[in-house]
Amino acid sequence: MQDIWRQALEAGQVRSGERGEPELEKALIAWSPACAKLFGLEDGYPEAEECSDVVEVLGGFGKQWPGMRSYAMCYGGHQFGYWAGQLGDGRAISMGEYENASGERWEIQLKGAGKTPYSRSADGRAVLRSSVREFLCSEAMHFLGVPTTRALSLVGTGAGVIRDMFYQGSPQMEPGAVVARVAPSFLRLGNFQLATYRQDTELLKETADYAIEYHYPEFNDLTERISKEKPNKYSMFVGEVAKRNAKMVAMWQAVGFVHGVMNTDNFSILGLTIDYGPYGYLDQYDPTYTPNTTDIPGRRYKFEAQPSVAQWNIMQFAKAMIPLCGVEQMEKVMKEFEGIYEAEYHGIMAKKLGLSKIDGPGDVALLEEFHDRMADSKADFTNTWRNLSKISVQSSTEECREWCSSLSLNTDESTGELWMDWLTKYKARLDADGSVTSEGERVRTMNGVNPVYILRNYMAQAAIEKAEKGDYDEVRQLYELLKKPYTEQEGMSGYIARPPAWASRKGVCVNSCSS
Ligand code: AMP
Ligand code: MG
Ligand code: MG
Repeated sequence: MQDIWRQALEAGQVRSGERGEPELEKALIAWSPACAKLFGLEDGYPEAEECSDVVEVLGGFGKQWPGMRSYAMCYGGHQFGYWAGQLGDGRAISMGEYENASGERWEIQLKGAGKTPYSRSADGRAVLRSSVREFLCSEAMHFLGVPTTRALSLVGTGAGVIRDMFYQGSPQMEPGAVVARVAPSFLRLGNFQLATYRQDTELLKETADYAIEYHYPEFNDLTERISKEKPNKYSMFVGEVAKRNAKMVAMWQAVGFVHGVMNTDNFSILGLTIDYGPYGYLDQYDPTYTPNTTDIPGRRYKFEAQPSVAQWNIMQFAKAMIPLCGVEQMEKVMKEFEGIYEAEYHGIMAKKLGLSKIDGPGDVALLEEFHDRMADSKADFTNTWRNLSKISVQSSTEECREWCSSLSLNTDESTGELWMDWLTKYKARLDADGSVTSEGERVRTMNGVNPVYILRNYMAQAAIEKAEKGDYDEVRQLYELLKKPYTEQEGMSGYIARPPAWASRKGVCVNSCSS
């Protein structure tokens, strides 16, 4: 038994809880060959003799590969709608950037590797359960086609971390882990906000110049002069950041992803999904769903609020950039945001519906009604979308009825009839589109944007419970499964299922920030 654990037990600070004493193993739990390719590594898993090196470096044990230089970043942010002042990488340590053969720069961050100057009173550590979730979801989102930070490895540190599991009443020891996450840059909106909050325009300019030089070089040579009429290089940069984040959130809405902590310090200047904390995917469609237990009272970050929160976040960023861009240009960016989001959202939703485009208010209503039908019949978001491609113009009334019952919807007679009405309208709309898209093409397009497999909370939870006992097979199997989310895979039909009863037991599959 580890000393820290025994001491804490004796002092009455923790109890050996329902989970029992955790398995503490220093090991490479998971590896993403797909991410490793970004570093010019071969497609495969590290050999046994390389593993210890990987664990020592990517597990945050202080060993570095040649050229690595570690640092932590300082930034600020709005948290749950309020300016929180200075924050920073409290438990993420950057190991520097790697430039690959294609000239791409990839930064590696070790999340959970210990204290940094920005850890405040916390320990800088991460527990296995949150690290499994971050590793799997980062890669799953990439394979879904959603812009995201990546994950290279998941290392068990062999050390215990004490966390107050609120629903169990007292602090408990949990296994610690480190995810090596990867992105071209981890700069956040909050980096810029902090400079402006400190009235340090020079730092703001330096940060923006850096971001533009390395990540938006297309704006490098534009003028810095502020003008009401014409955007300068900084305004163009803000506009592009807005656009990329609008696109990212449109993709979230399309795959039913709820981030859970859309604070401005968790918004990337590259429009990448960043900080996998208490995220969740929709199971049963509920637009007010939030996976974040600390957000339950206000539901600020619920599914349906994500586009408007993104807009609010971009507004805070635009405000912070006024010293470099001028008020007028930032107002213009904000005025355009909604239209940009809508175009992105409608673009992807048209594909999900199998239409060539969302063409006017009729199509918008058709889409909204589809969501309404899912809501009032408590339909599964992912499965309902996926199955929609089975409906065609030729589907008979009987086939439509079968389609409804195949979804095992909670339909009483009236919701069933509403579905039948909707399907009639949908078939008519497909018919009108028929000359534009062939049947085969339509089905292929729909199946390319309506996933079969997503990382449902209960699936992650099952993998976590095994991993906590030292069995990593399920984590690895999920990684493999989620590599091809749009393709039905043999023997994997169990992963299509809606959540089992155990998943809704109190305390299971609940998540707060910062575990
Ligand atoms: P989050 O809600 O995950 O974005 O976290 C908010 C802030 O708390 C970030 O600046 C984190 O770096 C910091 N933080 C979260 N967990 C820890 C931890 N265990 N140790 C140190 N800092 C942390
Ligand atoms: Mg964060
Ligand atoms: Mg976090």
